[in-house]
Amino acid sequence: MYQAKRQGGGYALYRTGASEPLTAMTLESGLHRALERQEFRLEYQPQLDTRTGELVGAEALLRWQHPELGLILPGEFIPLAEVTGLIVPIGAWVLRQACLQAAAWVKQVPHLRMAVNLSARQFQQPDLISTVTRAMKAAGLEPHHLELELTESMLVQVQDAETTLERLKELGVRVVVDDFGTGYSNLAYLKQYPIDALKIDATFTAKVGGELALAMRDEVLVKAVMNLAHALDLAVTVEGVERPEQLEFLRRNNCDYVQGYLLGPPQEAGQLMKMFPELAAQPVLPDRPR
Ligand code: C2E
Ligand code: MG
Ligand code: MG
Ligand code: MG
Repeated sequence: MYQAKRQGGGYALYRTGASEPLTAMTLESGLHRALERQEFRLEYQPQLDTRTGELVGAEALLRWQHPELGLILPGEFIPLAEVTGLIVPIGAWVLRQACLQAAAWVKQVPHLRMAVNLSARQFQQPDLISTVTRAMKAAGLEPHHLELELTESMLVQVQDAETTLERLKELGVRVVVDDFGTGYSNLAYLKQYPIDALKIDATFTAKVGGELALAMRDEVLVKAVMNLAHALDLAVTVEGVERPEQLEFLRRNNCDYVQGYLLGPPQEAGQLMKMFPELAAQPVLPDRPR
């Protein structure tokens, strides 16, 4: 195991029991080799229809199984992958892998959508459209099954974000604003950008459905965002749903989709298929005696 400790402007990783931190160099050189050494894998977190409880899709979440440090979560290495540019080949791998898995699941659940997170750096690559297209083609996945998650800050800060979004829409993939409400609150993009849905961050919904005095402001905010989204014809997903009361609140207030530990953690494909048998091929039924 390892431990991250704040140090200066960033953080340092310590192996348990070690006094010397692993340098960014250590992580970085590991990150360079991680793709070819096949140390990455994806976990999939289910997304459910709030009203019916039906499985509607999954979000692909990247994991790095480090040979010495063990499992490293994206929060620890995506920033480093961003600054080094390694996120570009890593992100392309994520897209290919997620599309392959989606293509397999779509055969069983025809309306299924696979959500993939894009980083700012990826979003700015001139060949983003061809990277996405190739991943879908190689998997035989139709574009409406793929959903790309972007953050507000990307939409606001990246030059020509609107043009890139339009090209993605022409391609036929869905575009979702992730972590809505936690970034730059410039709502102008909602007016003109071709986006399909908002994903409300867990920080807004942590208290909803709980004790009234604590929950009231958050509930007002979440309701307002959902109303805003629906008025703009956008679907709403709430992430980080952990408690039945939250789910109940979201149901009462017409939230479209929910995701969170209560409904299923991020897990390997095989595990998700055990949890949702509809993802697995239908077993052949034995002949019924007549
Ligand atoms: P995100 O896209 O907002 O993903 C949601 C995060 O919340 C995931 O963390 C997920 O495991 C966690 N989560 C799920 N259910 C619950 C819950 O009920 N409660 C709480 N408290 N948390 C929950 P994870 O997997 O550590 O990923 C963190 C972030 O790393 C993601 O945030 C996303 O921004 C980024 N990320 C993950 N995979 C990729 C990737 O392939 N590419 C890029 N560029 N970024 C990625
Ligand atoms: Mg996401
Ligand atoms: Mg999010
Ligand atoms: Mg988040």
